[in-house]
Amino acid sequence: MSTSNPNILLIYTGGTIGMVKDFKTGALKAFDFKTLLDKIPEIQLLDCKIDTVSFKKPIDSSDMDPKYWIQIADIIEENYKNFDGFVVLHGSDTMSYTASALSFMLENLAKPVVFTGSQLPIGDLRTDAKENLITSIQVASLQEKGKPIIKEVCLYFEYKLYRANRTTKINAEHFQAFASLNYPDLAESGVHLKINNEYLFKPNIRKKFVVHKDLDKNIALIKVFPGISKTVFTSIFSIPNLKAVIIETYGAGNSTTKKWFIDILKENISKGIHIINITQCSGGSVMMGQYETSSELKRIGVISGKDITTEAAIGKLMYLLGQNISRKAFKTNYETSLRGEIN
Ligand code: ASP
Repeated sequence: MSTSNPNILLIYTGGTIGMVKDFKTGALKAFDFKTLLDKIPEIQLLDCKIDTVSFKKPIDSSDMDPKYWIQIADIIEENYKNFDGFVVLHGSDTMSYTASALSFMLENLAKPVVFTGSQLPIGDLRTDAKENLITSIQVASLQEKGKPIIKEVCLYFEYKLYRANRTTKINAEHFQAFASLNYPDLAESGVHLKINNEYLFKPNIRKKFVVHKDLDKNIALIKVFPGISKTVFTSIFSIPNLKAVIIETYGAGNSTTKKWFIDILKENISKGIHIINITQCSGGSVMMGQYETSSELKRIGVISGKDITTEAAIGKLMYLLGQNISRKAFKTNYETSLRGEIN
């Protein structure tokens, strides 16, 4: 452990963690960040120096948009040299989307970026916010020989630290709101904070930290279902400026073999639209060619999302489209693990 106290930047974007009940309507809404810190005097006992920065207008994360991802990336970029770690307070609803996108935007990240939030506001007697916030700060402060132990974007919630781009919000009721079904937990907080070193992302720290902000939103996401009609499918592909479509298929990447379905995909691939196959299952992977129902997809050039989450598939797609790379490089990159998001 380093002898000097790490500098941590706390970035507040909004979410339940900092909300209060509106007197009139009873609905939860964001409130002033300074008040949030007053609610947790314990923070002053931590072995680190904490600075804070807040979105001018904190948001409920259901209003999240890539323009806010860029805002978070900007804050991290501007403060990268002066801080040892970053903790981002974010609503849980879209936390996995934001944290996944940031993992692609922050290339060669050599410091921890820990996303956290809570299911109950910090002022609530039964709140889960204090533990989530305090342990996230501790995780971001972990050092060995003066260097951060964690060098990736992660998500801490209810005693578990996950690789962010492997997470999904799975529960709107339980304090354990997130799961990472295709990758082991990075750490677990019990009596001791147990870090699973073998699962941590090991970036090439000699490479320069680069922040990517060109994100292309001209994409669509289709979840197939038994009975999906040709009309619905065709109308999505007629969206102007569409560049890529993620299709959530069944099981190991299977879909209907109906001729119209394959024909529409084939036609759009030939027009230069990227089609990505990901699975509706929370765990497991797309394996095109394993069943006859996916062989044709592979043959016509559909890209395999492998075991990527929907949240990471979206961030990776917007990021790669923004890179303006050749069609071939796009497919190779999408099917390659860039930030530990696929196996
Ligand atoms: N609606 C809230 C949000 O995502 C829920 C939460 O923070 O847990 O901002």
